[in-house]
Amino acid sequence: MSRRNRISQVTDDFVSLLFPRLCQSCGEPLVRNEEVICLSCLADLPRTDYHIRRENELEKAFWGRCFIERAAAYAYYRRGGIIQTLIHRLKYNGITSIGDYFGRIYGNILKDSGFLDDIDVIVPVPLHPVKVRKRGFNQSMVIAEAIGRSASIEVSDHYIFRRSDSATQTRKSRVERWENVENIFVAGEDTEKEGSHILLVDDVITTGSTIEACTEALKSNRDVRVSVAALGTAIFESA
Ligand SMILES: [Zn+2]
Repeated sequence: MSRRNRISQVTDDFVSLLFPRLCQSCGEPLVRNEEVICLSCLADLPRTDYHIRRENELEKAFWGRCFIERAAAYAYYRRGGIIQTLIHRLKYNGITSIGDYFGRIYGNILKDSGFLDDIDVIVPVPLHPVKVRKRGFNQSMVIAEAIGRSASIEVSDHYIFRRSDSATQTRKSRVERWENVENIFVAGEDTEKEGSHILLVDDVITTGSTIEACTEALKSNRDVRVSVAALGTAIFESA
């Protein structure tokens, strides 16, 4: 180890003594080489492996609703589970390193499995501009950009836009939710290449209505194929 590295290591150790980095899931101090969450919590994440399973539960959830080529999510999203905690901290506590870290991890997994081989562009689910201003970022964009960097694929937020703010989606039936999101996404005017394969990225898929509405908008003025990836999915076998 060079003298400079030794000094920076000592500085790092000193800084982490004063400001210990904590696991965003369990709150235990992170050790060297751990990032965002500890290795124990990382191992406990309920991964879906949907990216290597064709006709998985998430893909099936869109059958008869809209045509999705493939759908995958990193982990199952359960009430009180690790993914719920992480997404909450990402969105409401502004800890964007969570989206960046898991986007990178998932991007590498997707790339290594061949899931991204055919993808031309990555498009994040848009957040209303007012919300972006208030929050300072769109969590889906943070995740999309990290996936894009892992796989060297272009990321664009010009394919679809959010028209108006929608009321909070909790405590609504699926039909009401669908009516709520149906018309809020519109296709961008500056149409890109016909026939592109778009990877639509969201933080969590709960009912699939947002993805359905985005897909309708993406296909409304151009001939494109759409696949989907999210960090969490609430749609799984026992649902
Ligand atoms: Zn932990």
